[in-house]
Amino acid sequence: MTTHFAQWLVSPTRLPLIRRRCLRCPSTRFEAHGKFRINANHKLLDVWLLALCAGCGTTVKLTVLERANVRAITPPLLDRFHSNDTTLAAELLTDPSLQRRNGVTLDWTDAWTLRKSTATTPGTVDGSQVVAGPGAVGGSWVVAEPGAAACPDAGGGARPPMTLATSVCFAQPIPLRVTALLAVGLGISGSEASRLIAGGALWSTHRLTGRTSTNFHFFIRT
Ligand SMILES: [Zn+2]
Repeated sequence: MTTHFAQWLVSPTRLPLIRRRCLRCPSTRFEAHGKFRINANHKLLDVWLLALCAGCGTTVKLTVLERANVRAITPPLLDRFHSNDTTLAAELLTDPSLQRRNGVTLDWTDAWTLRKSTATTPGTVDGSQVVAGPGAVGGSWVVAEPGAAACPDAGGGARPPMTLATSVCFAQPIPLRVTALLAVGLGISGSEASRLIAGGALWSTHRLTGRTSTNFHFFIRT
């Protein structure tokens, strides 16, 4: 059996930019730094996530909770709002319902990184061997033995022999163009990634066009 395995982990390096028109300047990008504002009115709470215009610094408030009964909010959650928890801000920002409610979308450009791990012995996975990110591709394409831990993924299927199988996992739902992700991970250009797919040397049960933010794996003929 000569199938080799590798694992890629896509994770955020900072909060994404928020796409929204500024009313004071031509900018369409806002930055959140994890700051919340809370307003208590008797037993009702309003909670907003604050974001600053990248052009002029104007602050806007993104609604998180509106007239929520204070008893419906657990004390640990309230603490996280009060302590301006950036992890909570990231969770809320990536929630499509918050984006819809506030009429915003996210821009993940340069806000993510790709970490590649390989198994050197069956059943164990090395720490990160290579860290690559947009504009910072590096390292070699390392193969691993079968038995590498793989994340649960959306695109199953039998792994044929004589191939390199790579599991791609998302620590957060970061929508990325698949060919751009493959290009960064493989250290090739986006057009070369498209050529490998078109030529059948790189394939997956997952759609390899457009954007994805769900776990999948792909195969490449070695
Ligand atoms: Zn502005």
